[in-house]
Amino acid sequence: MNLVVVGTGYVGLVSGVCLAAKGHHVTCIDVNPKIVEMLNQCKPHIYERDLPELLTDVINSGNFVATTDLFTALSDTDLVLVAVGTPSENGVIDLSYIKNVSKSIGDYMRTNDHPLAVVIKSTVVPGTTDTVVKQEIELASAMKFPEFGLGMNPEFLREGEAIQDFMEPDRIVLGYEDERTLKLLEELYEPWSCDKVRVNTRTAELIKYANNALLATQISAINEIANVAAAIGGIDTMDVVNGVTLDKRWNPIINGKRANPEILTYLIPGCGFGGSCFPKDVQALRSLGVAQGLDMHLLNSVLDINDAQPIEVVNILERHLGDLTGKHVLILGLAFKPDTDDVRESASLKIINRLSKHGVSISAHDPIAIDNFREKIGDVSAVEYVIEWEEHVASADIVIIATKWAEYASLAGMNTKGKVVFDARRMFEPSIFVDSKYFSIGLNLA
Ligand code: NAD
Repeated sequence: MNLVVVGTGYVGLVSGVCLAAKGHHVTCIDVNPKIVEMLNQCKPHIYERDLPELLTDVINSGNFVATTDLFTALSDTDLVLVAVGTPSENGVIDLSYIKNVSKSIGDYMRTNDHPLAVVIKSTVVPGTTDTVVKQEIELASAMKFPEFGLGMNPEFLREGEAIQDFMEPDRIVLGYEDERTLKLLEELYEPWSCDKVRVNTRTAELIKYANNALLATQISAINEIANVAAAIGGIDTMDVVNGVTLDKRWNPIINGKRANPEILTYLIPGCGFGGSCFPKDVQALRSLGVAQGLDMHLLNSVLDINDAQPIEVVNILERHLGDLTGKHVLILGLAFKPDTDDVRESASLKIINRLSKHGVSISAHDPIAIDNFREKIGDVSAVEYVIEWEEHVASADIVIIATKWAEYASLAGMNTKGKVVFDARRMFEPSIFVDSKYFSIGLNLA
């Protein structure tokens, strides 16, 4: 089928390319002409594994094109997916991009008398599609729902695994307000055989938030337990986690073997969650609850714990080393997680900001996120960005692993004698660094 995807960020571009790879004819729209030009030259403007190859394939097959011309693209489709950003403004999502696109689509429908099915793919709080989006389109199009269609199809892809997540999803949520839109969504996802959840749009919206809020809650819960373990002393929280997760409710035994579900990776203590989704989505759900007159005790705590967790790295260093003035710190990892260049809400931002107030000199490395990080953090004079991190280990007093990039595993074979190694992501077994001072979150064996 022909479809239009508006917004070519992580979600819009990956969705568009993957849908084109499954045989649909996709036109991706972006307001940024530079992005459009790059895409049509098979060059993604974001880093995502396998994306350049897949983009090249779908462009060569004639199934994918990018343009800034929304109206021309809409004239050839019945279905439009909206994947523009919904950034956070003081913990509340900014719907201005969604409103702008809804208005433009409504304008198109009015001038062309062509009612479309509009499906929101961006993450929006429950009640957005069937109120805000609907009203914007009705106002601009002079049509009344259900003359046009409305749907909500949340995206669960993880940056770094985005192509695989889109191609092999755990489930697809088909939120709809009218049967025509459901039919189009069924046709769109016909090539996928996973579980499909058919619900109204506000349920679809809450499924996305509930999913992220529960995952974030698990991370903050283990971090709080890790901080308690560290305060008591004599405990390695990973031993606690291993003991807990032998409970078969966490880790079932199937055909005599442990299932080791991925949820267990959310129980590793560390310097907190970041990225464009967890912090923003948990804040937005909290704000929505507060606006409904609820106290939102749990999500408040999840966010408070997470805000403090990167600073815990600096606190632990100070507790053990005293004054940090004059130390040389090598920070390994600037992206919020490995395999992405996304630095939004990355723990390294907070760690570096705090360390730079302590009179330390900082060398910072990331395989792909240095430019984004530099742009985000601005000029912090204490920071020197390095390309070959291995060359800077010898001169560092403290090495902090802040992002679990696979290449940092080679630190284990390097000479770190007498240095402090702060493994803020639990990448290594503590016993590896016998000659060093090894620190981590939730580990205080002294
Ligand atoms: P992004 O900021 O990377 O990309 C948004 C794109 O939309 C930009 O390229 C921008 O130029 C374009 N845009 C803005 N206004 C436009 C308009 N009027 N017409 C055409 N293009 C326009 O955003 P993203 O990370 O892809 O996220 C998009 C949505 O998906 C958000 O709601 C986000 O919360 C959600 N989401 C993101 C992820 C993720 O991993 N990044 C995962 C799931 C859901």
